[in-house]
Amino acid sequence: MSGSALYETFARAPLSFERGEGSWLIARDGKRYLDFAAGIAVNSLGHAHPHLVQALTEQAGKLWHVSNLYEIPGQRRLGERLVAASFADKVFFTNSGAEALECAIKTARRYHYVGGRPERFRTITFEGAFHGRTLATIAAGGQPKYLEGFGPKAEGFDQVGFDDVDAAEKLIGPETAAILIEPIQGEGGVRPLPSQSLRRLREICDREGLLLIFDEVQCGVGRTGRFLAHEWADVTPDLAAIAKGIGGGFPLGACLATDAAAAGMTAGVHGTTFGGNPLAMAVGNAVLDVVLADGFLDEVRRKSLLMKQGLAAIQDEFSDVVEEIRGEGLLLGIRCRVPNAALTEALRDQQLLAVPAGDNVVRLLPPLTVSDEEIREALNRIRAGAAQASAPPVVAAAS
Ligand SMILES: *Cc1c(COP(=O)(O)O)cnc(C)c1O
Repeated sequence: MSGSALYETFARAPLSFERGEGSWLIARDGKRYLDFAAGIAVNSLGHAHPHLVQALTEQAGKLWHVSNLYEIPGQRRLGERLVAASFADKVFFTNSGAEALECAIKTARRYHYVGGRPERFRTITFEGAFHGRTLATIAAGGQPKYLEGFGPKAEGFDQVGFDDVDAAEKLIGPETAAILIEPIQGEGGVRPLPSQSLRRLREICDREGLLLIFDEVQCGVGRTGRFLAHEWADVTPDLAAIAKGIGGGFPLGACLATDAAAAGMTAGVHGTTFGGNPLAMAVGNAVLDVVLADGFLDEVRRKSLLMKQGLAAIQDEFSDVVEEIRGEGLLLGIRCRVPNAALTEALRDQQLLAVPAGDNVVRLLPPLTVSDEEIREALNRIRAGAAQASAPPVVAAAS
């Protein structure tokens, strides 16, 4: 066995890659894999994108890190661009999604604290949510499998059923500060929340004086064919967390806020050593150069349609394997009639990488730069994988 020095926390596939080129990963044995996992929606521009390589290497020759004791021009620039592209007025940079959520939750609590209602600190969340693995974000996500064995669940998180807006409304009490939701659940199984529900949550928050927080760590930064996924619902939050796609593979996250929501985040109340460092900012700015370029998001939507049409045909052909196709843009899910692990493995046998999710779903998360030809190739491999998953089980040879 591996005799590994590493924590045994990851059930890793027996694969190791040497390099990547666009939508492809090349394994150490030379085999080429079509990467529709994209580092779990992280490699938004694929692997070794020339513009990102250039931005990172140029910055690496100049300055890596100075800390937030000093001005960081790249941070100012990326902040201004995120503000221009979104509902937000203010940005705080982090190294991960969970930290961006921590910042959003703290910002909501401080908003009420400085507004003279310090008793308001609770956040309402939804079943199936995933917000990260810190002590606060496992409490927010509410999944027993992530909470077990880590002591009392962090105080201040209450959960209702998926899309149960009525229950959320009823649960609001004098201590409620915010409602936190993913516009499309990623880990939960590519479950989109109806636009109507997001709009109702906005109305409820406005009426009750609560802050609405969107977790766009997975669905944001172009993944759904809009810059932020909530744009589909024509509703804006007070706070949003982004990460994954904004770094294109470099660890980078951000909490976006309106001026009003960020009112309590004054000098010294929050901080980070690495967040917003010059390397991350160079890459984040380079990702935006591409994602915000004219026509890029239109292309994501067009490619989504191509994927959805192909997947619908596969569903017709293998209705014993595929129950439903869902998702938006290039955040797509195949709800399976066989165990999702079986289809994921069958796809891996076809040298196509995908990611299992909750609700027995297989996620397809290609780089946003995926070509039509690569989509057609992926569909061929998914058809072959579905055929394999549909066939009666063959006794595997012992290895
Ligand atoms: C991945 C993810 C997170 C956590 O991000 P990390 O960078 O792993 O901390 C939070 N929310 C959602 C929706 C995610 O998909």
